[in-house]
Amino acid sequence: MIRENSLFCKLIHIKTSSKALFESFMVGFRPHLQTCPFCGAAGSCKIHAYYDRSLVDFIDGAPVRHSLCILRLICTCGHTHAILPDFIIPYSGYGLFFILRVLAEYFLHLSTIEGLCRRFSITLSQLHRFLELFLVQKEEWLGALSSMEVSSLSFLKTLFSQPSYSDFASAFVRRFAKSFLQSHKNPASYCQQVFGP
Ligand SMILES: [Zn+2]
Repeated sequence: MIRENSLFCKLIHIKTSSKALFESFMVGFRPHLQTCPFCGAAGSCKIHAYYDRSLVDFIDGAPVRHSLCILRLICTCGHTHAILPDFIIPYSGYGLFFILRVLAEYFLHLSTIEGLCRRFSITLSQLHRFLELFLVQKEEWLGALSSMEVSSLSFLKTLFSQPSYSDFASAFVRRFAKSFLQSHKNPASYCQQVFGP
């Protein structure tokens, strides 16, 4: 997996869908400029395959499920790497913007819990999973003491108003070897081995 920084702006300025962002990102993506995260070789990756992946976004006040065509590269060392821009959360069917929006509306107390779940078409247990993940990672990022002093809402506001969200996202990956809001750890090998010719 190769995480790609793509959000060099404040999240509050993004007015488009994850799908539109994804497609414009992929138009400018250059496989031959990549460095293989497994062997470290530069310029040794080429297009291997594509696979479909569904992602829930929130557009015009409603959840929308989109299908994204994810590119997988293969390096001359034999490892393959899916290309995931940083608004796609590994192993999550929900997009970054969707989850952050759920969290923001929750902490702003804009509606009842039942109303929130209805609006986003999520179950109560899904909401709890988002909340738990967010609170754990907020504490990981800030440290236990600072995390107690910073409210969830102000931490969220900081995320939305970072001059470059990608700076935060990539720093998070470097520190914790997983993406922000990623619930499952990456596999130990991190890279998928390909066998065959
Ligand atoms: Zn390689």
